Amino acid sequence: MRALVTGAAGFLGSHMVDRLLGDGHRVIGVDNFLTGNDCNLEHLAREPRFEFLFHDITEEFDPGPVDLVFNMASPASPADYGAHGIETLMVGSCGTRNALEIAKKNRARFLHCSTSECYGDPMVHPQPETYWGNVNPIGPRSVYDEAKRFAEALIMAYHRYEKVDTRLVRIFNTYGPRLQANDGRVISNFLRQALNGEDLTIYGDGSQTRSFCYVSDQIEGQIRLMQSDEHTPVNIGNPVEFTILECAREVLAVTGSRSRMVFEPLPEDDPKQRRPDIAKARRLLGWEPEIELREGLQLTIPWFTASAASARENENGRVQGEDGKLPPRRETASRPRRTGYPLLDPRLAASSD
Ligand code: UDP
Repeated sequence: MRALVTGAAGFLGSHMVDRLLGDGHRVIGVDNFLTGNDCNLEHLAREPRFEFLFHDITEEFDPGPVDLVFNMASPASPADYGAHGIETLMVGSCGTRNALEIAKKNRARFLHCSTSECYGDPMVHPQPETYWGNVNPIGPRSVYDEAKRFAEALIMAYHRYEKVDTRLVRIFNTYGPRLQANDGRVISNFLRQALNGEDLTIYGDGSQTRSFCYVSDQIEGQIRLMQSDEHTPVNIGNPVEFTILECAREVLAVTGSRSRMVFEPLPEDDPKQRRPDIAKARRLLGWEPEIELREGLQLTIPWFTASAASARENENGRVQGEDGKLPPRRETASRPRRTGYPLLDPRLAASSD
């Protein structure tokens, strides 16, 4: 089959591209590199079954015939959507609509990456898909939470009114290789800090909880959902819950680092607890995660070690010298790079470094 992956240069998008190619599909990836990174696709430079379209999906586009659409484009870390609030709202609304129109025109199966942020700061714990959530609609996280909630409503509308064959995955905190070392997420920050011998920054008192899913488990859950006939949202995440302090201790244990912990203010509207109820995924998809946090961290460390080395080599890189909270962004959209894989955008094909 031919699959479209929006957000293909992102953390999850690039892993989905790899998985689909591994399963024998042809893939067209789309990204505007707002928060994605072309390095995540460089290994596909000579892969004939992969094409890349440099494009902002909030503008209409035609990727040609497709059988599967994976709508994975969006800034996703709190630092990234904090820095790109309007783009986040636009990709969740206009971008999702454009992706749905492509699925409709091609009668393609459609899967959308939604989020545990739909539950906000949850009053129900753990969170089942039936919980409607507790979201501040005007707070700093609302650009992400409400974009994703709007996208869910839009997708259900396309399913009900336009008969598009849709699926919704609610992703809980996921980590692994290709996380950007300074995207500001907790695993990114702690691993980077521990490996560099810097203090680990605990926001608040560290008693808030998260449940961390390794990327290969996440992708497997999404593939199974795409293969299923379930149209209502399904949680995909690891149900083992850690306080942020416990998470910091795990990172220190796995890295052997002697970094200290320092306490910083808790960001506004930071959810106090989060843990997926995965009974639905177990029942419908026969899915559950296999990789526990300690093993997943071990699998992720080599990526962070390599990132740190390349950041040291590049004095202007994103990693070096940043505190990880509000990273500066490379404006790749204004200086597109040729990366070697087949390019469909003639403007990009005509440009040079
Ligand atoms: N956090 C922290 N130190 C950091 C980064 C994050 O204590 O350096 C906390 C953050 O306040 C939140 C949790 O870790 O409670 C998870 O944050 P993350 O940004 O990874 O994603 P979220 O689950 O909030 O979307």
